[in-house]
Amino acid sequence: MIHKDPIYITRPLLPNLQNVYKRLDEVWESKWLTNNGPQHNFLESELKQYLQVENLSLFNNGTSALLLGLRALNLTGEVITTPFTFPATVQALDWNNLTPVFCDIDPTTLTLDAAKIEPLITEKTSAILGVHTFGNPCNVEQIQLIANKYKLKVIYDGAHTFGTNYNNKPISEYGDMTMFSFHATKLFNTVEGGALSFNDGSLVERLNLLKNFGIANSEEVVLSGLNAKLNEIQSVIGLEVLKLVDTERQKRHEIKRVYEQNLSDIPGIKVLTRLQGESSSYQYFVIQIDEEKYGKSRDWLYEKLKEYNVFTRKYFYPLCSEFEWYDHLESARKENLPEAQKAVTQVLAMPYYGELQLESVEKICKVIRDCV
Ligand SMILES: *Cc1c(COP(=O)(O)O)cnc(C)c1O
Repeated sequence: MIHKDPIYITRPLLPNLQNVYKRLDEVWESKWLTNNGPQHNFLESELKQYLQVENLSLFNNGTSALLLGLRALNLTGEVITTPFTFPATVQALDWNNLTPVFCDIDPTTLTLDAAKIEPLITEKTSAILGVHTFGNPCNVEQIQLIANKYKLKVIYDGAHTFGTNYNNKPISEYGDMTMFSFHATKLFNTVEGGALSFNDGSLVERLNLLKNFGIANSEEVVLSGLNAKLNEIQSVIGLEVLKLVDTERQKRHEIKRVYEQNLSDIPGIKVLTRLQGESSSYQYFVIQIDEEKYGKSRDWLYEKLKEYNVFTRKYFYPLCSEFEWYDHLESARKENLPEAQKAVTQVLAMPYYGELQLESVEKICKVIRDCV
């Protein structure tokens, strides 16, 4: 039953090499490698269509997209966010001199608990930064109501929600701004890359400046920016990977179905369920292990699966509120974040990628069932 070849948590979606060569020929011919080249612009327009968004700006990765997106909104003071996320979310705040105020999560979706946001708002609060964790949309309606009441901006880390719809609307229609990541491990990738979609079309100019050193023209540098541009080679990869995304989704749909079928009746194993009205992002397949009911802990199962050559991931782990540079924050204290504290010991991201054999999925589930 031990797998001969290791099964990893994910495998990148790799484009057809011959097609990549053809496009690279065009790039070599043009001698245009970066700075809004034709491949970049073509990818931008293809992605606008795919994601059904009006305003989209491409970046060299998701983190710099978020970092500069927050900068473009001129935020100050405190931003309410979740401790249960990837470090990039809160580090984008750090690099803008914004203070994260950690809010506990909803135990069902593992996203910001909207009911716990309001007590954390002070006169310094300028925004709410939610994360659509594992593709589960935040409670977007409730968050918007709170934001409207206190005149706060709403930004979403949508790194896990490429192409997700919620209530028949593209996920990026919620909030002022949504970040997407095109890292190799994400459903759609440009090796490294990212994007921002945003409601206020006038932001595009500012974002273009921010990702290119603030250079307005050959005579003027108008603000302090960064270098965060997506280059032509990354764009070529993206254009070819985009052709594969729908097929990849279908395969992952099937894998998800087999996982769900085989895990549904194991006591103490919970599959993170979808919300009503949500179309899955197919980014991750995550289970939660209730030690009392399952009989063994998440960490035990993680090690056990390794013995079977199956590599899962404690994701997210550790909580961002545990980073030592947040030691002084009242909101980072353990007792203020009970649900996040619980989730971080229970979640396990399972192997999930289109090429994963359904037979392997069944075997993995059998291990989970029989090993206790
Ligand atoms: C991947 C990821 C990021 C970072 O994106 P990069 O493109 O790797 O910079 C940020 N937030 C979340 C939730 C992620 O999963």
